[in-house]
Amino acid sequence: MNKLTSEKILIVEDEKKISDIVGSYLERDGFKVTIANTGQDALQQIKNNFDLIILDLMLPDIDGETICSSIREFSDVPIIMLTAKSSEDDRIKGLGIGADDYVIKPFSPRELVARVKAHLRRTKKNEKKLLSFNNGLLLIDTPSMEVKKDEKIIPLTSTEFKILLSLAERPQIVFTRLQIVNAVQGYDFEGYDRVIDAHIKNIRHKIEDNPQRPVFIKTVYGTGYKFIGIPD
Ligand code: CA
Repeated sequence: MNKLTSEKILIVEDEKKISDIVGSYLERDGFKVTIANTGQDALQQIKNNFDLIILDLMLPDIDGETICSSIREFSDVPIIMLTAKSSEDDRIKGLGIGADDYVIKPFSPRELVARVKAHLRRTKKNEKKLLSFNNGLLLIDTPSMEVKKDEKIIPLTSTEFKILLSLAERPQIVFTRLQIVNAVQGYDFEGYDRVIDAHIKNIRHKIEDNPQRPVFIKTVYGTGYKFIGIPD
């Protein structure tokens, strides 16, 4: 079960300012972002198997509701609606046509990203997930939060497990300390990033044969860390 590709998000939004800022927040968190500026463009793009779609309700050519209904004809991909309408009727209508969630403008990009992650987590929960690296040397079982090395269970704290999992889910991708904090806590918390070094040190002592010459978590000097285990 290799997972070398990032999750793909489609943003359907005609206001460039909004799509740019949301796009850059998502990219910063490792997502692969595609932007559609019109409804027509969105209908072309939606065939490309996205993991989640952020859909503006008010588009110049085709309205968001129609696009949402079109997507639902062939896909159950999570859809988060962006709307300026805030009356209860409009919200219920949005959810009634198959949107999973809605965010009212103006919104905080950070909150939208948190919702994106929550929806993707919910989708993933239904998949059985066992990550295996270096010919089965390291196994990470997500549902049971169990890590095995050389077939022996490695006791990790919940924070250590979350850090290891967020790195191992995207091998070869460099994470800054702040991104790791964000992945573990769901939000940035300045000042906490140096604590990550201590956690990484503990994880290495548990999973590496020689923590000085790690084969799983590599330090990228001046930046952060990346997972270098080889997915089976
Ligand atoms: Ca719009």
